Amino acid sequence: MKETKVRKRDVPDYTIDQSIYTQFDQRKTVFGRILYDKAAPFYKKDMYEKSAEIIDRDQKGYSRILFARTLAGWSVYDYFHGAFSWKQLHDPNNIMSKPELGKYRIADKNGMSKQIKKIARMYGATRVGICRLNKRWLYSRDMQGNKVTIPDEYEYAIVMAIAMDEKAIAKSPSFIACAETALGYSRMAFCIACLAEFIRQLGYQAIPMGNDTGLSIPLAIDAGLGELGRLGLLITPEYGPCVRLCKVITDMPLVPDKPICFGVTDFCKQCNRCVEACEADAIQTKIEPSFDVACPSNNKGILYWAVDHDKCYQFWIDNGGDCSNCIAVCPFDRRKGTTFPNKQGS
Ligand code: SF4
Ligand code: SF4
Repeated sequence: MKETKVRKRDVPDYTIDQSIYTQFDQRKTVFGRILYDKAAPFYKKDMYEKSAEIIDRDQKGYSRILFARTLAGWSVYDYFHGAFSWKQLHDPNNIMSKPELGKYRIADKNGMSKQIKKIARMYGATRVGICRLNKRWLYSRDMQGNKVTIPDEYEYAIVMAIAMDEKAIAKSPSFIACAETALGYSRMAFCIACLAEFIRQLGYQAIPMGNDTGLSIPLAIDAGLGELGRLGLLITPEYGPCVRLCKVITDMPLVPDKPICFGVTDFCKQCNRCVEACEADAIQTKIEPSFDVACPSNNKGILYWAVDHDKCYQFWIDNGGDCSNCIAVCPFDRRKGTTFPNKQGS
């Protein structure tokens, strides 16, 4: 893995037009619009509706076994709802009662922050950062239309990146990559469940989150995990965009990290690898990022390369499973042995 020159910044490297930006309603994401947006071309269309037909074609990377591996990989994220509990976990069938030890006194916030990161890594996080919780990144309403309200005492977000196997992701868009994505999500659920419970065992409050409740990417930028790339995902210095993101917000007193900068925006201006790899033409080719949106699932008021999620999701349906082509080709993943991206995009 080659070195990338990473600088710390006092403020995150994104531009928001405050006169336009509003908190995003989760029902406007593609997965919300599947349920609610009758005008969406994919209204009520399941990503897996063509999977059986695709398996019958007997193509390499689209076998019944790989599809089973994909669906099974989602099990913890999709069905172990305790992982997302806002309260301490209890099971009346558990014969071992747990003692209440009262609130742990934190004399050294810096030391506690280091502990939190160490423990998060133990539970499966590859990189961990801490930021003050900026409530503008919370969804205004959740998938069911309920207002998202987080009490003010939840001051910090612990944001985690979980690296995926780049060799499996390189097989995108086949089911081999889909299975790795699914596994990444279930590892997220395991990690946030255990970290939130660790915090509660010390007498503090914790809300674990996957893709729910708030936007992971800007929180990750605030927490110093990376920068936003042309492909619409977080790019980390070591693993590029080949990570899944999750977070735990808490009232535990911690020390925030600084945002980082390592030249992603400038590099993306002259690298179009993700554009070329996208079979759906969903990624913008414009040299400069702008405030233009590409589809109803883009939030307004952010200077970025807005991805056309409508085209992207239609490709997922046609593929019989999700896609990671853009992630697979991004040269910022150091594990591929790429040198720091130069002006030719190598
Ligand atoms: S592939 Fe190139 S343009 Fe796309 S996000 Fe990665 S560095 Fe940026
Ligand atoms: S996930 Fe696939 S379809 Fe969607 S933007 Fe990336 S390359 Fe394009």
